[in-house]
This record gives sequence, C-alpha cells and structure tokens, in this order.
Amino acid sequence: MSRFWSERTRHISPYIPGEQPRDKKYIKLNTNENPYPPSPKVLMAIQTAADSDLRLYPDPTCLHLRQVIADYFRLTVDQVFVGNGSDEILAFCFPAFFNPGDVICYPDITYSFYPVYARLFQLQPQTVPLDDNFDIPLDTFPANAGLVFPNPNAPTGRLVSLQDIASLLDRCRQKIVILDEAYIDFGGESAAVLLEKYPNLLVVHTLSKSRSLAGLRLGYALGQADLIEGLERIKNSFNSYTLDRLAIAGGIAAIEDELYFQQTREKVMVSRAVTTAALHRLGFHVLDSAANFIFVSHPTIKASDLFVTLKQQGVLVRYFNQPRIDNWLRITIGTDDEMQRFIEILTEIIQQWSNLRPAVF
Ligand code: PMP
Repeated sequence: MSRFWSERTRHISPYIPGEQPRDKKYIKLNTNENPYPPSPKVLMAIQTAADSDLRLYPDPTCLHLRQVIADYFRLTVDQVFVGNGSDEILAFCFPAFFNPGDVICYPDITYSFYPVYARLFQLQPQTVPLDDNFDIPLDTFPANAGLVFPNPNAPTGRLVSLQDIASLLDRCRQKIVILDEAYIDFGGESAAVLLEKYPNLLVVHTLSKSRSLAGLRLGYALGQADLIEGLERIKNSFNSYTLDRLAIAGGIAAIEDELYFQQTREKVMVSRAVTTAALHRLGFHVLDSAANFIFVSHPTIKASDLFVTLKQQGVLVRYFNQPRIDNWLRITIGTDDEMQRFIEILTEIIQQWSNLRPAVF
C-alpha cells in the first residue's frame, strides 16, 4: 500500500494467473496452453517479420490480420476487432459497453477475470449459480442485464449448445451478450454464425489455445460493425498499437494454416477422451468437457491433497480454493506422453493412499 495509490488502485483485487514455474521442469497441465508447438508456418512468418522494419510502428488498424479473420468467418473487416490476447478484449468490453453502476451478470463458477474487470470498471456484478451438474442454466440469466460467460465454461469445460445460445439471445435482446469462446475449437460450434441476426452479440476468441500461441498474445472479437467500432474507440483511447509486427505476422499465418489447426485440435480431443477413460478407471468423477481441459474429483482423496502430491511428483494442475469447487481439479490436456505419465503417477498416488487408509470391515 502506498499513499500515492488512487482509491481505485486500493480497492481492486487483481487476477492471479496460473503458476508459470521456474524452479524445475514440470508436466505442466495448469494453464490450458496447447501442448503442441505453433504451426511451422507461424514460426517462419515471425522470423521473416523480424527484420529492419521493426523500427517502424505496426499498422494500428491491423487491417491485414482482420481481413484474414473476416474471410475465415465470412464476415467483413469492420466486424472484426483484434487485441493483445482475449483478456485485453474482454477488459475493453467493460468500459465500451457498460457505465459505472450497470449490472453485469455471469455464472458463479466461471473465468475469474470477470469479477476483476467488474470491480476495476465499477460495475455491479450479479452471479447466476451453475446447476448441480455444473451446467450454466441459461434460462435464469436476467434479460435486463449485460451478460458475459465462456462457452465452453471454465473451469468446468461444460458446453452450451448453439441452439440454447440462440434461445438465450432471442430472450435477451436489450443488453450486450459477450460470449467468450476461448475453448470453442475443442468440441463446440462457434456462435459467430448467429452474428447477423443478433446485434447485441459479441463473440470473443483467442489464438492462445487452439492455435498454440499463448506466448504471442493474440485474440479477436466478432460482432456487428457498431459494436466493433465501440471497442476501437476504447482501444484507441488506451494504446494505438496493442499488436506488434511479429504478432500480426504470426496471427495471419496461424489463421491461414487450417490443416495444422485441424490436426492439433483433433489430437487434443483424442487425448482428452483417452485421459477421461483412464481417470474413470481410477474412480474419478470427470465432467464431460468440450475444452482442452477436464474438471475432475475423486470420491475419497481430497483435491487439495492431490494437488500438493502431484506437484511434489512433478505434475502441475490447477486447484481453486473456492466454494463448490474446492474438491475439484482442472487438468489441461497435454501430449499423449505427458498424459500417460500423469496417469502413471496418479495411479501410484492412489495406490499409496489406499494402503495408508485403514481397511474397513
Ligand atoms: N477466457 C477464458 C475463459 C480463459 O480461460 C482465458 C485464458 N486464461 C482467456 C479468456 C484469456 O486468454 P488470452 O488472454 O490468452 O487470449
């Protein structure tokens, strides 16, 4: 605390990202990164872009990248906004579409950055509880408040169908609906196809997950042109150059390499199914996931204990010490080798644990 801090600085509670360890090499299944490298074409494009032109500012409108994304989704360039990761875009949404004091609604268990932004921009958060199966009960979202939620949800991985999203949008037409589709490529269908019909829909994507580019910081939003213009106005009131030349070049190559994208996301989905089956055999409860992570709970071993023991054994997963989910772990899907090793380590832990427990007669 400093006497120079503003009231705002004093009262915010910043987001705490998942651990990026420096102490040793872990099997890193804690921050939903893609286990596969970016497309070789992306690396080549970045290398080519690393030339003397770096002395020049990048294109502040990122026109080429936006055009490539627009073509991919059969939209026009003025329906695409790009940003420094989807976190930045989500952050821009709050001042772009809400006034201080406005209500913003999101599920009680969801991406923990939303409450942080709500506080920073002085909105009034309202949470809707997930149902007993950890699904988002869309019909309980109020029609008179702005909404933000991930589909699939994080950290549960649960997917809402496109049909249910359309019904929600039919009912909630007054306020903005921000759909955070960070994980949609791992088993869902993007609501981008609904944009023409719903002027209050904004779909936010990232290249951090399904395009293996968490380190490059790239995200985009799709919406009708007036919503995108609102985001541009906010962005240009913060920073004209949120994307650098290397990110723009890498982003274009990533969107253009469709084959690599399809192959890697397929691999992740297959590993998810194999890992889920193995965890079932070990007695875990595993939520059906449409994301590149799974949410799991063991009937007898506490998630907090498993988290600590796994870490000691060189496996990092994510534990949220939060009501309703404090006996669950979120496990990112890694490579097949990583998942196999993870299951081996987990099997040993569970065996040791059952030997420690007194036999029940
Ligand atoms: N939305 C959700 C639901 C996420 O889990 C994440 C990743 N932490 C993001 C958005 C942000 O991703 P990025 O800023 O890397 O695009």
